Amino acid sequence: MTDATLEQTPDTTFQQTLRGRLIRKSDSDYDAARALYNGMIDKRPNLIARCADVADVITAVNYAREQGLLLAIRGGGHNGPGLGSCDGGLVIDLSLLKGVRVDPANQTVRVEAGCTSGDVDHATHAFGLAVPFGIVSTTGVAGLTLGGGTGYLTRKRGLTIDSLLEADVVLADGRFVTASLEQHPDLFWAIRGGGGNFGVVTSFLFKAYPVSIVYAGPIFWEATHAKAVMSAFREFLRQSPEDLGSFVGLKTVPSMDPFPKDYWGRRACAVISSYNGSAAEGEELMSRLLKAVPPPIFNWMSAMPFPAIQSLFDAFLPQGLQWYWKGDFVKALTDEAIDTHIAQAAQAPSELSLMHLYPIDGAVNRVPKDATAWSVRDATFSMVIAGIDPSPDKAKALKEWGRAYWKAVHPFNMEGGYVNFMMDDESAGRVQASYGANYARLQAVKAKYDPKNLFRVNQNIEPASV
Ligand SMILES: Cc1cc2nc3c(=O)[nH]c(=O)nc-3n(C[C@H](O)[C@H](O)[C@H](O)COP(=O)(O)OP(=O)(O)OC[C@H]3O[C@@H](n4cnc5c(N)ncnc54)[C@H](O)[C@@H]3O)c2cc1C
Repeated sequence: MTDATLEQTPDTTFQQTLRGRLIRKSDSDYDAARALYNGMIDKRPNLIARCADVADVITAVNYAREQGLLLAIRGGGHNGPGLGSCDGGLVIDLSLLKGVRVDPANQTVRVEAGCTSGDVDHATHAFGLAVPFGIVSTTGVAGLTLGGGTGYLTRKRGLTIDSLLEADVVLADGRFVTASLEQHPDLFWAIRGGGGNFGVVTSFLFKAYPVSIVYAGPIFWEATHAKAVMSAFREFLRQSPEDLGSFVGLKTVPSMDPFPKDYWGRRACAVISSYNGSAAEGEELMSRLLKAVPPPIFNWMSAMPFPAIQSLFDAFLPQGLQWYWKGDFVKALTDEAIDTHIAQAAQAPSELSLMHLYPIDGAVNRVPKDATAWSVRDATFSMVIAGIDPSPDKAKALKEWGRAYWKAVHPFNMEGGYVNFMMDDESAGRVQASYGANYARLQAVKAKYDPKNLFRVNQNIEPASV
């Protein structure tokens, strides 16, 4: 017998209450656990709570609040500026929450917050269904959805948030609520575009739609034809059925097989599409664009399972590359804007660096601007400029190119941008501009659910002063 007692500190109580792991700086897997998708971001949290269930999330939120810790929420870890982590403080890591349950009778799917879009695509495809997510399958459903969500099904089905039916949320005070049109409708309104500002979402319920084999893939043209392709694409899209999801980009032909060797490393213009219908219909549809422009370098569109086009880029974009993002919404893609894009894209500092224009039309435009927090329903495109390269030595060049490109094209664009395509060096008021007239309402909802701004490692919405 000794007189020694086990000291019960808040820290030990936290650890004893968790079913998942608490990862500390001294743990051998700390570096792997803190690593983010964007290799340019190097954050060192004090603690990473790898939550096993909702109970763990509640425990972790309470611990962070009571201890006054900086708190970050990590879904898929794909955020450009690394807002799924923090320096010091606590990270709630949701990566173990991987449950997906498809309800084929009701055409809905329940998705836990650690899922990537590939996890969900895999599960729904077996039922001939899909939810509108983004174009890279390793992206987290949570961050993508809470910021809005654009992808191949957007023209027909709207943003990802337009298919959200309800979400389970752990609030700043530790309460667990379900947000939907009927329950906590103010919170449900705010999380549809307002990011992780209002609580930790532990699961989402989405509407799913019949999508199975699509006619999909990339078509690349030489950069000299970029003007012809971009102008033709603008008209082509306007006249195409909404079952065609398609975006145009300025890119480089990758220097690898199976790309034609003569074009390796050469600048190009690309149209990447997914048509939810037969190959014959899809071919006929794309022929309208192809007839209007010079012949492409290659046209690799074919019939494929929807998850295949959803993961087309995955192999080119592994975790750990350097990324620098800039985004904008485009009201109208003018000829002058196209010229500016082509001139800027020609200066790209690396083969992977790109500019994409994703359509914001069809079903997105039909939702009123104040129906969800995501307000830019009157745009025609969401633009992203991404400087990307494996080498950290290129970081400066990627940033400089992204900033200069954005500065040159921004005068043609709208004021705000998509919060999921922003770094953390945007000018003051940019987040506010992105929400437009919805910002004041977001601030009021923030004041109700998170008055002390516990959830502030995000594109932050400051609570209205009460
Ligand atoms: C390669 C690549 C491709 C992309 N393609 C698309 C695309 O096609 N369409 C599109 O719309 N976007 C796309 N994006 C952008 C993407 O939507 C954002 O990067 C998004 O933040 C990723 O979400 P995440 O869960 O992976 O990120 P994380 O880094 O884990 O989190 C991002 C933000 O969301 C918050 N958050 C995460 N999980 C939760 C939760 N459960 N509850 C509350 N808050 C939470 C975090 O606090 C953080 O602020 C892409 C990004 C990458 C890197």
